[in-house]
Amino acid sequence: MKVVLQREDYEKILAYAKKELPDEACGLIAGTDEGELREIKKVYLLTNTDHSNEHFTLDPKEQLSAVQDMRKLGLKPLGNWHSHPESPARQSEEDKRLSFDKTASYMILSLQDKEAPVMKSFHFEDGVSKEEELTIR
Ligand SMILES: [Zn+2]
Repeated sequence: MKVVLQREDYEKILAYAKKELPDEACGLIAGTDEGELREIKKVYLLTNTDHSNEHFTLDPKEQLSAVQDMRKLGLKPLGNWHSHPESPARQSEEDKRLSFDKTASYMILSLQDKEAPVMKSFHFEDGVSKEEELTIR
């Protein structure tokens, strides 16, 4: 799976994730999905109702209105993203447990190195976390 994220959307996520520190930030991604190419056309910045630096839960009300917005725009829900304020950009055991949708992309933005944030995209299938090819352009 190839995932394309617009630079502008990446900057949005990054700014929001920094603003939410020390907590994890989270949100949804939407766009188009054709064959092996997944293009993110819109990102949503949601409230982490856990307000924790190790966990996140998407605010259910915001999630609902984001999904309604996607429908209105004709975009497909593609998965979610969250930040890791102090750990690398890889799926934790809990992240894997929460990656129950095999067709979704789960993106992680690591702010462990404040000077060099790292964004990666994963999908989880058959007990294995697989990194997807992510292009930010
Ligand atoms: Zn995580």
